[in-house]
Amino acid sequence: MRVLVIEDDDAVADGIVDGLADRAIVATRVASGLAGIESAAELHPDLIVLDLGLPDIDGTEVCRRIRATSSVPIIIVSARDEEVDRVVALELGADDYIVKPFGMRELVARIHAITRRTTVGASVSRDDGEGSRLVIDSRARRVLLDGEPVHLTPREFDVVEYLARDRGAVYRRTDILRDVWDTTWFGTAKTLDAHIAAVRKKLGDPAWIESVRGVGFRLGEP
Ligand code: CA
Repeated sequence: MRVLVIEDDDAVADGIVDGLADRAIVATRVASGLAGIESAAELHPDLIVLDLGLPDIDGTEVCRRIRATSSVPIIIVSARDEEVDRVVALELGADDYIVKPFGMRELVARIHAITRRTTVGASVSRDDGEGSRLVIDSRARRVLLDGEPVHLTPREFDVVEYLARDRGAVYRRTDILRDVWDTTWFGTAKTLDAHIAAVRKKLGDPAWIESVRGVGFRLGEP
């Protein structure tokens, strides 16, 4: 795991680099926005920690430019505790936002959460991009059928993505309810059926989601 730290404040930067080193995470630090953009392209880091207030170009612009060519996870750290910055940062494609001052424990927890998420997402899209008519793009939360976007509601997307984690595997209804709806309340079984029906309709063929009697559902390939 290699982290790129883009931060002009020496004390903050040293704290992050040392703190990550203590946890066996290698970090490279640069002190300006342009150096950050260059290093992101050259080093191919696994994750970027980006300060917003940089001497040459604003961190939001740095984020935008890196995101234009790379899907590397970006955590923004900033002293600007304003809602507008948080929203703008996430809209620019940052994965998370931490307000200074923060503790190393918090930063490391966020790093681990993001890498877990992106690793799962990457394996899903790789698995589903090859040879299938149905492609699930977890990062963009999009489903493409024969190259055309299918307009699913967020929950419908969650169901399809869940079933696509292991294509062909049968997922139990109780597991889908627990993981997608965060509940095991039996009343929601009807909700699950309604969502499955809606997705089948939108995909144009019920065979995309097969019912396995007495067990649950699996993603099919008509
Ligand atoms: Ca700064």
